[in-house]
Amino acid sequence: MRRTGPAFPALQYLYEFDLFEGASVHTPEDIRSLFQRNGLRCTRQREQVYAALDAAHTHPTAEELFQAVQGGEEGLSLATVYNALEAFIEAGIARQVPSHGPARYDADMTPHVHLSTPAGDVVDVPEDLSERLLGAIPPDAVRELEARLGVKVSRVMLQVVTQAQDSGRVHRDS
Ligand SMILES: [Zn+2]
Repeated sequence: MRRTGPAFPALQYLYEFDLFEGASVHTPEDIRSLFQRNGLRCTRQREQVYAALDAAHTHPTAEELFQAVQGGEEGLSLATVYNALEAFIEAGIARQVPSHGPARYDADMTPHVHLSTPAGDVVDVPEDLSERLLGAIPPDAVRELEARLGVKVSRVMLQVVTQAQDSGRVHRDS
């Protein structure tokens, strides 16, 4: 669900509220440049954790990332993974996704809706449905919220939570 810019005009306002960093990241050079642009100190371990997070489309937990990176990186600890994730979130290049189980993480910062199941899985809602759901959030309501509560909205997120009887296999059709 990565894009190089606002793919649908209805969501333009979401990008306005966001420091949209839409570049796809695939190579170590991309990752270093992404870190640099976001004021993040570049270490080999951080690079590896980010690469693993970016490659995963399952919204992995810190433990899963640790398992994924551990083999190729001696001396990596779970604490290092947590520290890296915290730094990514602070720099705005990853986000934590609420789930029923342990915290999950996503390097895809484009606006999209998450669906979480009671089993603890988090999947991306298909792009067309994400677009319709997010596009239905009235921009004037967001602006009024800012005015009435005296805040500056940086991001509007939407998460769909399914019921216990739906906890079977989620069709991943996106
Ligand atoms: Zn996601």
